[in-house]
Amino acid sequence: MSFSHLGLSNEIIRAVTELGYTKPTPIQIQAIPAVLSGRDLLAGAQTGTGKTASFTLPLLQKLSSDKSVKSTSNEYSPIRALILTPTRELAAQVELSVREYGKYLKLNTMVMFGGVSINPQKRLLKGRVDILVATPGRLLDHVQQGTVNLSQIEFLVLDEADRMLDMGFIRDIRRILSLLPKQRQNLLFFATFSDKIKALATGLLDHPEMIEV
Ligand code: AMP
Repeated sequence: MSFSHLGLSNEIIRAVTELGYTKPTPIQIQAIPAVLSGRDLLAGAQTGTGKTASFTLPLLQKLSSDKSVKSTSNEYSPIRALILTPTRELAAQVELSVREYGKYLKLNTMVMFGGVSINPQKRLLKGRVDILVATPGRLLDHVQQGTVNLSQIEFLVLDEADRMLDMGFIRDIRRILSLLPKQRQNLLFFATFSDKIKALATGLLDHPEMIEV
């Protein structure tokens, strides 16, 4: 099994090859075709399994093959893909991966989290942002201030959703979900399954492909 068998473009394969990836990991083999096909995903995977690339690579491919962004009267740029993470550290790490995997594509990426000044983030949000990696609290600060445009989100990823629930983010997540367009693809990643994950998945996902590695 190779990355090209999974239907990924040459630009993406070139980027991962340069990172030394020679073949996809088990979660990538399962998740990449499912995401490319447009399905929702419920995936159980630990850190270290290659889970970040399993959602980022197909997301990059879908975003780069369909460049259509509807015009908007909002002064803030419409974001197309939102990746939520429980911590700043994970947000920063995921955004770095998105940048590396997408280095041969013309997509703009941004990371936002709390604990740092909000004004530079507002400035960045006025420019083009295709993919936003965020922690829930700071994203809601921007929502409150009207400085983020979520009206055209096509893809939502909840990374380490079980940790987000453990950290008490469920209300924030529900609030964010209520602000997104109904028509979108949803990917939910967790390390440990629980009733809370089940409840979240039931409300969020439409006939998901289920993967556990
Ligand atoms: P993750 O599970 O996303 O935290 O990834 C764990 C580590 O595996 C990261 O350092 C990635 O760069 C690396 N990685 C991801 N996919 C592959 C692959 N197909 N081959 C080799 N390394 C990979």
